[in-house]
Amino acid sequence: MRSREFHLAARPTGEPRLSDLQLVTVDVPEPERGQVVVRNTWMSVDPYMRGRMDDVPSYIPPFAIGAPLEGSALGEVIASRAPGVPVGATVVHFAGWREIAVVEAADVTVVDPALAGPEAWLGPLGMTGLTAWVAVTEIAPVRPGDTVFVSAAAGAVGSVAGQLARKAGAAVVIGSAGGPEKAKKLVADLGFDHGLDHRAGPIADQLAAAAPDGIDVYVDNVGGDHLQAALASARLGARFALVGGISGYNGDAVGVTNTYQSVVRRATLRGMLVTEWTHLAPVWVQRAAGWLADGSLRTESTVVDGLEAAPEAFLGLLRGKNTGKMLVRL
Ligand code: NDP
Repeated sequence: MRSREFHLAARPTGEPRLSDLQLVTVDVPEPERGQVVVRNTWMSVDPYMRGRMDDVPSYIPPFAIGAPLEGSALGEVIASRAPGVPVGATVVHFAGWREIAVVEAADVTVVDPALAGPEAWLGPLGMTGLTAWVAVTEIAPVRPGDTVFVSAAAGAVGSVAGQLARKAGAAVVIGSAGGPEKAKKLVADLGFDHGLDHRAGPIADQLAAAAPDGIDVYVDNVGGDHLQAALASARLGARFALVGGISGYNGDAVGVTNTYQSVVRRATLRGMLVTEWTHLAPVWVQRAAGWLADGSLRTESTVVDGLEAAPEAFLGLLRGKNTGKMLVRL
């Protein structure tokens, strides 16, 4: 059996180029005992993959040059040498960026396609949804009456975080996104009170206008100017969930100069990694599936078709071409 997969051809400098990724055709090895063969039908592209293209120490090793890229994917088991994961099962695993994956059965999660579709399993019911939930319940817990600010709020994590903040009793939920359409969508479709367009002018001024009495919670997906703005607007005892810093992923980070405000306001800034919270995934899935079914959690995805289009999907994600979760349908 043959399969196509993307390899990292060169480490990008700044914004990745399509030529940094190479589509390669390979022979699929026979599965060994304990392994399954999965035909991937959907895969996720995620901002953290940009960091793995750099050869720097991080919480996850860099992608190797000439080796297949990795990432979350969903597919159907087409051959199995593991009794617990039969042929026909729908599974989520980490061997994305390829058509056919041979993976350890211990590394796949069998999911129920009747509970939710692939877009949900790789989005709100997957890592991005869990990230949002952990951010607003464990890292920077939202309390009734809070004013909450979420950046990259039209994206996969941010759109869920804003709605969960509302469910937790936030009085005011403010989101930022790139462009007027996304900013409007935050209010019209996703239940935010204010949608700020970070491309329209300094985010600090817009946030100060939307929250004249300050913010209690900030879910930071962006870093840089957004973190600076949130610190300037922090109330006494504010809680910040540091989730991501996408404004600097291409090596163009803007320095934050007002960290002293965290002293003045006795703010708590706490970083998180969702991979340390996967024990909560079963609880989250049950809860979120109910909310998706009753319509009280609304999510979107931006779908690009074909494995060969995955690099464009990834570059588009970094440029904000997505609303909700960016996915590739193979
Ligand atoms: P999104 O769906 O939010 O997509 C990324 C978005 O970032 C783009 O759509 C774009 O939205 C926005 N963006 C890009 N550049 C900038 C910029 N310079 N300033 C402001 N916004 C920008 O991605 P995810 O929901 O998957 O991830 C969101 C963040 O959460 C990322 O930083 C990611 O690394 C992080 N993350 C962290 C996890 C953890 O465990 N800590 C787990 C999962 C994600 P727009 O058009 O609105 O600008």
